[in-house]
Amino acid sequence: MTDCPHCTDERAAGAAFCESCGRPLATGAPLDVGTDCGACGSAGSVATDGYCDNCGMLAGRPRDHAEADAGPVAAAVTDRGVRHRRNEDAMWLAVRGTEVDVVVCDGVSSSADPEVASGTAAEAAGKALALETGVAAAVRAAAEAVAALAGTGDPRRAASNPACTIVAARVREGEIEYGWVGDSRAYWVPIGAERAEQLTEDDSWATHVIAMGADPQAAWNNPQAHAITAWLGADFGVVEPRTGTLRPEAPGVLVLCSDGLWNYYTEPAAFAEVVLASVRENADLVSAARALVALAVEAGGADNITVALIPIV
Ligand SMILES: [Zn+2]
Ligand SMILES: [Zn+2]
Repeated sequence: MTDCPHCTDERAAGAAFCESCGRPLATGAPLDVGTDCGACGSAGSVATDGYCDNCGMLAGRPRDHAEADAGPVAAAVTDRGVRHRRNEDAMWLAVRGTEVDVVVCDGVSSSADPEVASGTAAEAAGKALALETGVAAAVRAAAEAVAALAGTGDPRRAASNPACTIVAARVREGEIEYGWVGDSRAYWVPIGAERAEQLTEDDSWATHVIAMGADPQAAWNNPQAHAITAWLGADFGVVEPRTGTLRPEAPGVLVLCSDGLWNYYTEPAAFAEVVLASVRENADLVSAARALVALAVEAGGADNITVALIPIV
């Protein structure tokens, strides 16, 4: 794992993106899951696919925990959490100088191969963002790629289309352009602010009924609260991503995350507090992202958790 799969350049020590082509190295790359097998006790026998060469047991899944570290420019961490047996979230992070492309996707658990849907969407959108055709075009590219998964000939996929959410953003010269489908979110958290500004509006049952006048507390406590009303997948039809732009007037942090994080910090004040404290109290950005994921795990880890942090000064 020393070569960039995209341009074969040597991987920079500790960098999660290729210094030559700017493509992320963390996305889809096998991670260090430890090489000693916990099942048979054999030392150094666990291969990069997570399986033990000696006993054949799965010692760890590469996607259970992944990190992308672009130094002070951006960082992202994804984690399986506690209760789900696999990580169906996916992320993409590419950095070129101060330009950042970032995508967070969350597989729909009730669909076939949700982790394939989210991985496909994150990569398709990430690659499209680099083409400079805008966030809406990138989300549409992801939608097409995910919809195509239903037609691969796999009968399970044809019967229950792989599906996921998406939130994507690009940062160019201090301006943020973002877009989304589903309930993965983007927030703007100004340094020192008491409240986070939620840039995205969930495509979810709870958000829909609250907009219609329902009591927010009751809506969020409803078992249907998180049911999404728009997604990427063959059964959804034509996707019309919602988009926005923000040119911050003061320094702050752009946060993209899946519901595995924001569900524990639904109040804008609580979200701002936990993000700013993590950035302030950790030595670097990837540690701050890791700390946020750890808080969600400690809070119950009921879902997969993904968080990306992009400071803008
Ligand atoms: Zn073993
Ligand atoms: Zn989720």
